[in-house]
Amino acid sequence: MENLLVDKRNGESIKVKIGNVTIGGDKKVIISGPCSVESYDNMIAIGRELKDLGVDILRGGAFKPRTSPYDFQGLQYEGLKILNTVGKEVNLPIVTEVMDTRDIETCMEYADMLQIGSRNMYNYSLLKEVGKLKDVPILLKRGMSATLSEWLYAAEYIMSQGNTNIVLCERGIRTFESYTRNTLDLNSVAVIKDKYRLPIIVDPSHGTGLRELVPVMSMASIAAGADGLMIESHVQPDHAISDARQTISMESLKTIIENIQKNRLA
Ligand code: PEP
Ligand code: MN
Repeated sequence: MENLLVDKRNGESIKVKIGNVTIGGDKKVIISGPCSVESYDNMIAIGRELKDLGVDILRGGAFKPRTSPYDFQGLQYEGLKILNTVGKEVNLPIVTEVMDTRDIETCMEYADMLQIGSRNMYNYSLLKEVGKLKDVPILLKRGMSATLSEWLYAAEYIMSQGNTNIVLCERGIRTFESYTRNTLDLNSVAVIKDKYRLPIIVDPSHGTGLRELVPVMSMASIAAGADGLMIESHVQPDHAISDARQTISMESLKTIIENIQKNRLA
């Protein structure tokens, strides 16, 4: 690869601020919430529980990139409003996915951090547009078939436009393995922490697709050096509208958070 802005040789390690939360500092940051924003009642119930557990940032998809056009596409603008209201009520910053350049402005009004999903990692128009938003934190997920260098070039697209507030999110890649939904590539975490300036978190939910694997792969991600985790959780995981199979309960999330805290003291 050529000499990139994201390369450690070209500057300090980047810390990204989302409200009072810093990603890339000493604290391991936990982002959690449902795959999709489903309703106000459901989102506020989840938001209150997550706040009590000490989660740092609330997530929820309003625009959903579903494989089938016949599946639930998200509550869209209504979902954004619900997420924003709940974030304010429980006093947590929120992150949500933006899929279309035409929605960037609205998403920015409602969210504290914008997520570029796996399917849009190669959407260079979208990357350039969010790159122009100098103070807006961007969560850049790895394309499901992207090499490490393609992913870093995607980050470079954003950074070269002036926005350096980028957090990478490893969410697993497609391999010949099919027991799990994706193969969670923790090598990427080790490489990025060693050679690159951007903070990196891991999404063990999409990385495994299986809720019973989420706790152990969360700990493995932290052991590999991740700056935090993004985990899909729900008050009734089996009833989640999307990605129920990989969504964990509040009890399970509580144990993960406690184990990370214990680990720090060890
Ligand atoms: C998500 O985080 O809701 C999501 C759709 O993930 P990905 O883009 O990694 O598939
Ligand atoms: Mn999901």
